[in-house]
Amino acid sequence: MLVYKFGGASIKDAESIHKMTNIVNACNDNLVVVISAMGKTTNLLERIARLWFDENSYKQEMDELKMYHQRIIHELFEEHIPSNLGGLYHELADKLMTKPSMDFQYEYDQIVSFGEKFSTRIIEAYFNLLNTPAEFVDITEVIKTDRNFRNAGVLWDLTQKLSKERFTFSTYNKYITQGFLGGTTNNQITTLGREGSDYSAALIAAACDAEKLVVWKDVPGIMNADPAWFNDPQKIDFISYKEAIELTYYGAKVIHPKTIKPLQEKNIPLYVNSFVEPDTTGTIITSESDKKFSSPVFIRKQNQVLISIRPKTPDFVAETDISHLFQMLVDLNISVQLTQMSAATFTVCVDKNEYTFDQLLKQLHDHYEVRYNEASEIITIRNYDDDSLAKMKNGCEVLIEQRTRKTAQIVRITK
Ligand code: ASP
Ligand code: MG
Repeated sequence: MLVYKFGGASIKDAESIHKMTNIVNACNDNLVVVISAMGKTTNLLERIARLWFDENSYKQEMDELKMYHQRIIHELFEEHIPSNLGGLYHELADKLMTKPSMDFQYEYDQIVSFGEKFSTRIIEAYFNLLNTPAEFVDITEVIKTDRNFRNAGVLWDLTQKLSKERFTFSTYNKYITQGFLGGTTNNQITTLGREGSDYSAALIAAACDAEKLVVWKDVPGIMNADPAWFNDPQKIDFISYKEAIELTYYGAKVIHPKTIKPLQEKNIPLYVNSFVEPDTTGTIITSESDKKFSSPVFIRKQNQVLISIRPKTPDFVAETDISHLFQMLVDLNISVQLTQMSAATFTVCVDKNEYTFDQLLKQLHDHYEVRYNEASEIITIRNYDDDSLAKMKNGCEVLIEQRTRKTAQIVRITK
């Protein structure tokens, strides 16, 4: 049994959906197809959820949502549009007619989950039209989670049991289901965190002991740098689970950071393939470490801020100050990328979010002298060498540089 995952870009229009259908049809094994919302639908639904919750008008966004899906439906089905496809849109419109509860995180999941509901409903109907039926599974009945809305924690033993019971291939040799979504034990919808459908697919693959998971992407595989900012990126052919976890930890965006663990535990290989050129080989991720990729890998995280604190009294920084600072960061849910300590100051590089950053500054100013550098970015180079490091420093103001045996990190401002 195999699991295929298709992300938003691979189902963003009728042409891409034709491509994904060909890939699915070419598979003769038992197959679970996991899909996310079409194109940028989740972003749009996020905006709708926020506007509705704040009692602002969301009409324009709803029109956009409707038109976008309708266009795809028209192109796919032409004159054979199934009558039930509009139902979900009305369900969403009805939900938005109600008054929001006090809990934004809960409401967010109820609304944003419509992206995956739309996409699976449409593509299931399209598979039927083509006479290659796949049974639809509502994943919120299978992947069970806690009530931590927007970033739900998976109840693994229950999820494993339900997956085994549900994916039996007794009717067809294909299933289609939603990524990103889960459900509480009393059937409230949850989501697993943005870009979480890779993780969903890994959970299903691990629960059902799949032979492999293939994630179909609009890039040739995992690259040694993001093609959006790097000239001439190289494809990585093989990489170990361990190295893949490191890369996602430092911010490589190809796969969701939580994807690897469930696969690693069951030793299930992960393939990252191009849906544009499905016959070429992409990247294979396994436990094998003898085929290590040893050239430099570049990971860039933007929107960073470098903050230095020093006690207001003429004193050294003490462990209590650091613990105090970290408690503030934990309370505000701010991720730390790098730290550095000297006698008089302690420096952290953190992700910058307008809202939490202002709160952090306010709290810090009460206790410390604070300096900070906005508009910086952090570059991590795995397997660095002199050349790769020099290249990343070229033309930039480097605020901090740190190295271990395998990894170099610089916080820099691009001039
Ligand atoms: N549709 C969700 C998102 O955009 C999940 C995913 O794409 O993996 O975050
Ligand atoms: Mg997506």
